[in-house]
Amino acid sequence: MQISSELILTQPISSLSFNGVKTSILRLDLLHPVVSGNKWFKLKYYIKEALKYQKSCIASFGGAYSNHIVALAFACKENGLQSIGIIRGESTTPLSPTLIKAKEYGMQLHFVSRSMFNEKDSIKKELNYPDAYWVDEGGYGPLGAKGAADIMLSVNSEFSDIICAVGTGTMMAGLIKGSNANQQISGISVLKNNYTINSEINCLLSDNDRTKQFSIIHDYHFGGYAKSNSTLFHFMNQLWEEEKIPTDIVYTGKLLYAVKDLIQQSYFKPGNNLLIIHSGGLQGNSSLKEDILVF
Ligand SMILES: *Cc1c(COP(=O)(O)O)cnc(C)c1O
Repeated sequence: MQISSELILTQPISSLSFNGVKTSILRLDLLHPVVSGNKWFKLKYYIKEALKYQKSCIASFGGAYSNHIVALAFACKENGLQSIGIIRGESTTPLSPTLIKAKEYGMQLHFVSRSMFNEKDSIKKELNYPDAYWVDEGGYGPLGAKGAADIMLSVNSEFSDIICAVGTGTMMAGLIKGSNANQQISGISVLKNNYTINSEINCLLSDNDRTKQFSIIHDYHFGGYAKSNSTLFHFMNQLWEEEKIPTDIVYTGKLLYAVKDLIQQSYFKPGNNLLIIHSGGLQGNSSLKEDILVF
């Protein structure tokens, strides 16, 4: 899949432009129905590296609804590489829609118990794939951040604030790298009380990048990673009805909710020109019952 910058669309959001704040959104969700958003950017230099080292396969980790896993499966297929997904928890019948897609794209799945899943080094050792290039869970790492920095190539310098959802922090690190000194980057953490995220992001930054303006906001996790509630569903449905912008329950729904609330609380100031990064991930909504979201 080629990503053309013409495809990447910045659109204003009128329902989130108030209190003197102007808000637009970068629709990375429109890049591809399954492999949308930031995962594609985060993977591209890992793929290059794997090809350079003539590996036949890329292996990585994720949950049964992981955007990273399905994006990796697709990206490997596109590049003539095999892929292996180490999946947290037992296999289910049927498989989750995410894993069905990953398998369709040729990924070989390995299920690892929840208790073992965090022992990444021993899993790698045990599986012993000498031909595999390993990518960390969520694509975390310098090459992931380097790829995410390329998102900023299609962002106009007129924006005063760039706001994104934060999981591993790799995308945010990339946005910081790609931003200029007068832009402020704000990250909405989707994990509960994940206060080590600052140092994880700092690890991916150069000394110069660390002097840029960025902050993480911890108030919009809705109970924790992949947790959701009717307030969030209501907001997401309303946003769809007003703006025809689809969001997901894990990342972008929380992100847009946060932006609205932060404008209401005057966290952003009159004259601020915000750009929200829609990082995709809509396939993650496949974990929900069908009648919860209207889109
Ligand atoms: C993975 C993901 C994120 C988080 O990206 P990190 O680089 O892990 O912080 C945000 N939004 C969506 C839709 C994602 O799939």
